[in-house]
Amino acid sequence: MEAYLAELNDAQRAPTLQIDGPMIVIAGAGSGKTRVLTYRIAYMMSKGIDAFNILALTFTNKAAREMQHRISQIVGRSEAKNLWMGTFHSVFAKILRFEADKLGYPSNFTIYDTQDSQSVIRAIIKDMQLDKDVYKYKQVYSRISSYKNSLITVKAYFNNPELMEADAMSKKPRMGDIYQEYVQRCFKAGAMDFDDLLLKTNELLNRFPEVLQKYQNRFRYILVDEYQDTNHSQYLIVKALSDKFQNICVVGDDAQSIYAFRGANINNILNFQKDYDGVEMYRLEQNYRSTGNIVNAANSIIDKNQTKLDKVVWTANDDGPKIVVNRLLTDGEEGRFVASSIFENKMQQQMANGDFAILYRTNAQSRAMEDALRKKDIPYRIYGGLSFYQRKEIKDVLSYLRLLINPKDEEALKRVINYPARGIGATTMDRLSIAANKYGKSIFEVLENLDHLPELKITKSTRTKLDNFVNMIKHFTILAQNADAFTVADTVTKKTGLVQELKKDGTPEGIARIENIEELLNGIKDFVEEQKELADANGSIAEFLEDVALATDMDKDTEDEDRVALMTIHLAKGLEFPYVYIVGMEEDLFPSAMSMNTRSELEEERRLFYVAVTRAEKQAFLTYTQSRYRWGKLVDAEPSRFIEEIDDKYLDYMIPQDDYKYKPLINTDIFGDEVDKSKLRQTKPKAGTPPAHKPTEEQLRKLRKLRPAASEPEKASNAIQLDVGNEVEHMRFGKGKVLGIEGVGQDKKAEIDFENGGIKKLLLRFAKLNIL
Ligand code: ATP
Ligand code: MG
Repeated sequence: MEAYLAELNDAQRAPTLQIDGPMIVIAGAGSGKTRVLTYRIAYMMSKGIDAFNILALTFTNKAAREMQHRISQIVGRSEAKNLWMGTFHSVFAKILRFEADKLGYPSNFTIYDTQDSQSVIRAIIKDMQLDKDVYKYKQVYSRISSYKNSLITVKAYFNNPELMEADAMSKKPRMGDIYQEYVQRCFKAGAMDFDDLLLKTNELLNRFPEVLQKYQNRFRYILVDEYQDTNHSQYLIVKALSDKFQNICVVGDDAQSIYAFRGANINNILNFQKDYDGVEMYRLEQNYRSTGNIVNAANSIIDKNQTKLDKVVWTANDDGPKIVVNRLLTDGEEGRFVASSIFENKMQQQMANGDFAILYRTNAQSRAMEDALRKKDIPYRIYGGLSFYQRKEIKDVLSYLRLLINPKDEEALKRVINYPARGIGATTMDRLSIAANKYGKSIFEVLENLDHLPELKITKSTRTKLDNFVNMIKHFTILAQNADAFTVADTVTKKTGLVQELKKDGTPEGIARIENIEELLNGIKDFVEEQKELADANGSIAEFLEDVALATDMDKDTEDEDRVALMTIHLAKGLEFPYVYIVGMEEDLFPSAMSMNTRSELEEERRLFYVAVTRAEKQAFLTYTQSRYRWGKLVDAEPSRFIEEIDDKYLDYMIPQDDYKYKPLINTDIFGDEVDKSKLRQTKPKAGTPPAHKPTEEQLRKLRKLRPAASEPEKASNAIQLDVGNEVEHMRFGKGKVLGIEGVGQDKKAEIDFENGGIKKLLLRFAKLNIL
């Protein structure tokens, strides 16, 4: 047996060695799914399968690079370079460039990022004179995005009365018109948005059987990581491409499906066996990533979800320390606790900064963490905020580069035609836009034909400015035909006057911007060096732009720097860190207030929590605050029900003992009546109270008497046997008498008249009642 195959356990080796036919690996976090994909590709190549025939789709480009790196070690670098690996977007953008003409697009089409797309939509809403408070551009954008991901084209939209009615009902009867106009404007600008990369790939494969065949033959072997988070559009692409040879291997974990809000469809994984004939199904059960306490705690979390496949996850690793739970007064204190704890662990355990991650539900929570880390001089890096490539000065440079590649790119043109200022005003721009619309041309084409358009009444001096601009861009275009990306970008920053403009500015912000542009140029230089090594690339500006447009937030990783990682839980999928801090464990924050209306939303939040906890290798920390600024107001915070859902034996509370028994009942009324929060309020720890560690057995026993442990749902569900007339006791509402029972099964509710709470309706599944 090849040595690398010995680095797999038996359960992992079986799917690794099965090369042909459809197969699915469903397994919990940290069980080696990604490892199986990686080793399987190496094995296939060692058996003589041509790297050019293998397509591997990953969740981030970084994951693809890591897999490629490992495969290189096994099969050699030059062979591994020929693999088709990357995200759906990056792989299919490449294919679309080859085939663009079939769809009427130029092969140098621009890829609009979210900002660009939203800016087009804003302009449309304005031009159509619609109420911008009704037609909120971000909402309109995500609506259009979801149409595209469900393959609802403009035509399909107008053929679907239900959709139109739904939009009309939500006071947006012009949605279809906006959609149509948006699609037209993008097309005219030679631009595709992110969703187009999938939609147009589907169109390509559907409309052109010979193209479909070509790619079916090329990608004889297809592998997909994180299959549980594919959306409909991605699903159809994989289905079409694998249809001929049916050599399709997908891996995933239904318990980690966390992108439903963006159209991911968990059914893709659940129905895989129905989609192909003779599917081999593999399960992995041993977790190699985390300690026993983390694995068991995670199991106890996901156990609370009703919709799930039954899976076993266990580990041979040591139990390790328990999950630490700490309550802080404010987010500032929360930040200080996390920063000190990182500092201590770094010293005591000899860890690097990069061994720590702070995960949160919403980006806004990063600020308090950043402040505290800065004060302690701990270097950190935020993933996913406003990314480097979206900073103003960087987008300015990139817009020039985009324009010289694709002069029709209207978003780029609008951004730079008068930056740095060259006296081309809004009136001139309006006239140009109107003419472009009238003749169905791009603004750049109008600029090139001003001689024939005296009707625009452009003054002589403005005309000179416009001509200079056009000539400058054309000059860059010619330069780009022979020069590499770095030479072009360097010339652009100098010749356009961008850097001079910032130098003139002289403020610290201006200087920081110049530094960023320098960083961009350095990055381009590295990119050119790297590309020159590859056979089929030459480090051109077009290649660089594609790389940038499709970089996911994870990819802008400066890997050589040792920094604590800060990111949302969504971004952390697939990653692992020795120490993980999950902050803001509070009701209405996590689970999010917006995700508690239905069971399925709540279950998605719970899966998110499962993902968070399972990122940790050695130890996890959960923190919550007693009050937090939200929507500009300081509000009382309640600990997240998710903390209570973890079996107590895996937790180590750092909460002062005096207070411990006041830990409010979470959960009790999730779906029941309103909670009287004044009775729940916790006493604040006295200043200087040393945090006590785990409560003694005696304390725990007392505590359990007060509240049935979350790990014993049977006890709680005893209450389901209630009859009218029964006397019951509830921890908070005291004694009471059952007045009525309604509903069945999971929805069974009891109406109870309590001594302390009056008449309440409680959902029995959650109500913690004792029958007297
Ligand atoms: P996730 O669901 O979070 O994506 P996963 O199932 O993809 O997790 P991997 O990332 O492949 O799991 O593996 C988790 C960790 O365990 C990695 O560090 C991996 O190198 C290690 N690992 C997996 N299998 C083995 C093995 N047989 N021997 C030693 N280490 C292993
Ligand atoms: Mg994985």
